[in-house]
Amino acid sequence: MTQFTCPRCGAPLEAAAGTHIVICPNCQTLTYIDRREAVFFYKIPLSVSETEAKRIFKRWSAGPSMDKNLEAEAKITRFEAKYFPVFSFVRKTGGKEAYSVFPAKNTTLPGMHSLKIPPGNLDTYTGGSLDAPILEPDVSLESCISQLSGDAVSQSIVYFPIYDVTYTFRGESYSAVIDAASGDIHPGRYPERSSGSFAGALAAAVILGFAGGILGILVHPALFLLSAAGIAAGKLLGTAVLHRKTEAAK
Ligand SMILES: [Zn+2]
Repeated sequence: MTQFTCPRCGAPLEAAAGTHIVICPNCQTLTYIDRREAVFFYKIPLSVSETEAKRIFKRWSAGPSMDKNLEAEAKITRFEAKYFPVFSFVRKTGGKEAYSVFPAKNTTLPGMHSLKIPPGNLDTYTGGSLDAPILEPDVSLESCISQLSGDAVSQSIVYFPIYDVTYTFRGESYSAVIDAASGDIHPGRYPERSSGSFAGALAAAVILGFAGGILGILVHPALFLLSAAGIAAGKLLGTAVLHRKTEAAK
């Protein structure tokens, strides 16, 4: 069995098999223990109030790429402040320091891979309750380290403040996360403005046309037909939309 010492006071730590979180018997500091090492806990202050976060959500729902009825019709079904655990790594590869974040808990919440830890805003977390519920880590540090290159400079667990948001729109449920340190929103999948799907179809037609053109040159002249088909499809779609627009104007 591996022996661990408290990263704060150096007292020996004993971890029962299968447990990750240990409280130092000497200084009461909370430590995360893995097969390889013991790491510190930090927390980031929750600095975006719920009122402010709801305003951020509302502003986002009125954005140009969302369904134009989203702001009016979205019904919030959950809006909860939480501390989400992430592993924060600084690694050195070829003299360069790289920084990465991994969710330390299995989750379907959007954005948990891309949280940005604000510089100089970390408090040591030594245990006890915070101003919002804390989610416990259930992912092993080892499994993340095995995906990283370079040498460890530092690694820690950071409790990251978020708002876990779910909302319904026209009978479907969606989720989003608001970073409660920066106010950034991680929307995941959301109801898009319908003209977006037309732009997508047009783009696909144009790509098909291009691909056909290139393949025609490289592989076989018959593939030029694809190019023609792509351009024709694009034109057809364009005309259809023009029709719809003129009719709507009437
Ligand atoms: Zn200690």
